[in-house]
Amino acid sequence: ADSLGDEQNGLVIAHYGTQVEVESLDLEETISQRCHLRANLGSIVTGDHVVWRQGQSIGVIEAVLERRSVLTRPDSHGNMKTIAANIDRLVIVVAPYPEPFGNLIDRYLVVAELLGFEPLLLINKCDQLDGGSESTKVLALAQMYSELGYQTLKLSASTGEGVDELTELLKDGNSVFVGQSGVGKSSLINSLIPGLDLRTGALSEARQKGTHTTTTAILLHFPGGGNLIDSPGIREFGLWPLEVHELMSGFRELKDYIGQCRFRDCKHEKEPGCALQKAAEEGSIRAERLNSYYHILKSFEDPS
Ligand code: GDP
Ligand code: ZN
Repeated sequence: ADSLGDEQNGLVIAHYGTQVEVESLDLEETISQRCHLRANLGSIVTGDHVVWRQGQSIGVIEAVLERRSVLTRPDSHGNMKTIAANIDRLVIVVAPYPEPFGNLIDRYLVVAELLGFEPLLLINKCDQLDGGSESTKVLALAQMYSELGYQTLKLSASTGEGVDELTELLKDGNSVFVGQSGVGKSSLINSLIPGLDLRTGALSEARQKGTHTTTTAILLHFPGGGNLIDSPGIREFGLWPLEVHELMSGFRELKDYIGQCRFRDCKHEKEPGCALQKAAEEGSIRAERLNSYYHILKSFEDPS
């Protein structure tokens, strides 16, 4: 068998079947190695911090450190599956075209709030802001979320405007990009990681290294600092079933009203003494956000 080196700290950058690719966190020069897992370690995912030993051809994972956050998704049987660990930031990308649909941004924000990721809202394709109705709509959204205290940035993957600011905002921690297809996620990632052709590049490169295809996500480094955790499945994830009582805590400004209504089981619709209705009437909370809450709530009750 391989002789193994000393225990060291590592970062899981990809996952293949029963093995993972681990990058050293202790060595001056970054090296990575395919590793198998000691028995009884439980699940290990991209983004995990581990204790491992380097081998001649293959290393071994000895322990997984505590996670500060996890991204989970239901599998085809409805069981929650962990896809990636230690995510710090959810980068939500929108654009004037394709127009943001329904309450997609709020859905992502709910996920970010509940899973403990810091949301960052990007308005991409700002070169297309031409004063038309789509532009007006997307700018109004940007303003609303920034007034709610969410960090927002207008930028353009095409012209490069705002890309330096984005580089700066991403330079710490692990980020995940999400958003509707066509808003420019791949274009933005390509401009952050020069030389990477995301469609074909990163994922197939990761694949070539192994006999198994990646089953979860991969971790890539931004040259300006910070990491991207990505998989085709992550980029367009929607909202999965949450507990109804969790939904309101996903709305930053509505959260304060939890428990303030006259009736404990208030649905915040037509009930007398509803603190939320009152706050909306008084203008302390935005009707758009309250409506969005209702819509998401309805979609839980009637998933069709
Ligand atoms: P994704 O599906 O979110 O990954 O979106 P893509 O990165 O594939 O981009 C979708 C389309 O929008 C492509 O044709 C891009 O060239 C275009 N696109 C991306 N970013 C910009 C931008 O900042 N401005 C303009 N005008 N087009 C962009
Ligand atoms: Zn109420």
